[in-house]
Amino acid sequence: MGTSTSSHVDIALIGGGIMSATLGMLLQSVRPDATIAVFERLESLGQESSDPWNNAGTGHAALCEVHYTPERADGTIDIQRALLVNEQFQRSLQFYAWLVEQGIATLPGDFINPVPHVGFGHGQVDVDFLRRRHAALVVEPPFAGTVFSDDPDQIAEWLPLLMRDRDSDDPIAVTYSEAGTDVNFGALARIVVNALAKRGVDVRTGCEVQKLARSDGDRWALSVKDRASGETRQVTADFVFVGAGGAAVHLLHQSGIPEIRGVGGFPVSGQFLRCTNENLIAQHNAKVYGRPATGAPPMTAPHLDTRLIDGRRGLMFGPFAGFSPKFLKRGSKTDLFHSIHRDTVGTMLAVAKDEMPLTSYLVRQILQSKSDRIDHLRDFMPSASGSDWELIQAGQRVQVMRPTSRKRGILQYGTELITSGDGSIAGLLGASPGASTATAIMLDVLERCFPADYPRWQPRLRDIVPSLGATLASDPLLFQKLQDRSHRVLGLAEPALNA
Ligand SMILES: Cc1cc2nc3c(=O)[nH]c(=O)nc-3n(C[C@H](O)[C@H](O)[C@H](O)COP(=O)(O)OP(=O)(O)OC[C@H]3O[C@@H](n4cnc5c(N)ncnc54)[C@H](O)[C@@H]3O)c2cc1C
Repeated sequence: MGTSTSSHVDIALIGGGIMSATLGMLLQSVRPDATIAVFERLESLGQESSDPWNNAGTGHAALCEVHYTPERADGTIDIQRALLVNEQFQRSLQFYAWLVEQGIATLPGDFINPVPHVGFGHGQVDVDFLRRRHAALVVEPPFAGTVFSDDPDQIAEWLPLLMRDRDSDDPIAVTYSEAGTDVNFGALARIVVNALAKRGVDVRTGCEVQKLARSDGDRWALSVKDRASGETRQVTADFVFVGAGGAAVHLLHQSGIPEIRGVGGFPVSGQFLRCTNENLIAQHNAKVYGRPATGAPPMTAPHLDTRLIDGRRGLMFGPFAGFSPKFLKRGSKTDLFHSIHRDTVGTMLAVAKDEMPLTSYLVRQILQSKSDRIDHLRDFMPSASGSDWELIQAGQRVQVMRPTSRKRGILQYGTELITSGDGSIAGLLGASPGASTATAIMLDVLERCFPADYPRWQPRLRDIVPSLGATLASDPLLFQKLQDRSHRVLGLAEPALNA
C-alpha cells in the first residue's frame, strides 16, 4: 500500500487474532495473487482473546467438556455437539500439521502440546452422569481411547492433586483421554500472520479500523488510524473479514448489512486463579473439566488446567465471571454504552428481562472474595491453599444478544458467523468453543462468501485440511489415519515438555 493515504486491496482482514490469521492463510493459499491487508489496533498480534493467559488454551475436542453432552429429559445423553466439536477440532489439527509440513511453523511445541483431557464429577449424581456419558461416547471413533474410572487409587495416580485430602466417603469418577491438547492461540496467530507478511501480505499493527462503510459500487471503505502517528488512511476492499473479537459486533453494525440488524453484544469478563507454587504445578498434568453450576452459562464450566506457554508449565483454575463494560480487554469503558442504539436497544431490553438467572449469576460471581474462589477450587483440589494462587484477568467475551420475536430476545453462548447476502463481508461473534474451531469456521467463510470459487478451491483446501467434505465420526479408518498423521507431525504422540 506504500505511504499514500488511500489505497485498494482485494481482501482486508480486521484484527490480528487467530481467526484473521487462519482465514488469511487459507485465502492466501487459494488466491496467491490477491492483495491482502491485515489491520491490528494493538502494537503486536494475538494480544486480545487469543493471548494464552486470556483464554484457557483448551484444544476443545469434547474429550473433557462434560457440558457438551447434555442429559435429555429421559436420562439419555445427547452426544451430537460433542461429535461436531471433535470433527471441527480435527480440521484445526490438520491445518496445524500442514503449517508444520510447509515449514511455516517449525517447532509445533511452540503452540501445541499434549495434555490429557479429563471429565470430572463427584457425588453419586455426577458419577452416574459421567459413567453414562462415557458409555454413550466411547463407541464413537473420536472417543474410543477415553477411559472411565471411579477407582480412587487409579485417579490418584493420574491426578494426585484431585485426591489429596479428599473425603473418602464421597464417590468420585473421571473420564481420561490422552488425546487432549493445550494450545497457545496467540503464538499460533503470530506464526501464521508473520508467515503471511513474508508472502507479501501487508500487515499493519498499531492500526485501528475506525469506520467501515459501503463505498461506490460493491467495495467497502475503511478508515484506518495509525494510533502512534495519528494519521488516518482510507482503504477500499472488495472483501472484508471482521475478525475484531469483541469489537466485531460494533464494526458489523457500521457496515449496515441487514444480517446484523437487532443483534447486540453483552460483555462478560473472565478471571482465572493462577498457581504460583512450582511444586504444585509440577504435580498436575491434565485439563480437568467439571459441570457448570446450576443456572450458570455453559462457558463457566469450572476447570483445573495445566498450561504449556513459552516453554513453561503453568496451572490455572476458573473461569470466574465478572462484569466490565469493555468489549475488548484493552478496549474502552464506553463500549457497552456505544453499543446501545435504535437497532439494538429492543433486543437488549428483552434479554435483560428474560435473562434474570444470568444477571443474578453474574452478581453472585462479582461479589465473590478470593477465599470464595479458593472454596470453588477445593471442589477440584481439596488441599488448595489461597497463598499458592493469584487472581488474573482473562479475556473479554462478548455474548451475542439476538432478537427472536417481538419484544423477546435471547442470549447466545456459541460462536456465530455473520455473512452478508452478497458475500462481500463476514464477521465472527461470540466466544465458545472459539479458537479451537477456527479452521472449520473459516472454511465456512470461504464456502459462504465465495460460492462461485469454492468448488474450484476445494482440491487445494483438501491439501491443507484432508477431511474437508468427509464426516470423520462415521469413517473410523479415515479418522484414525488423519488423527495419527496430525498427532505424529505435531509431536503429540510424545509427552510434552517437562511433563
Ligand atoms: C476467558 C476465556 C477463555 C477461553 N478459553 C478458550 C479455550 O480454552 N479454548 C478455545 O478454543 N477458545 C477459548 N476462548 C475463546 C477464544 O479465546 C476466542 O474464540 C478466540 O481467541 C477469538 O479469536 P479472534 O481472532 O476472533 O479474536 P481476538 O484474539 O480477540 O482478536 C481480535 C483482534 O482484533 C483487534 N481489533 C479489535 N478491533 C479492531 C479494530 N477496530 N481495528 C483493528 N483491530 C482491531 C484486537 O486488538 C484483537 O487483536 C476463550 C475466551 C475467553 C475470553
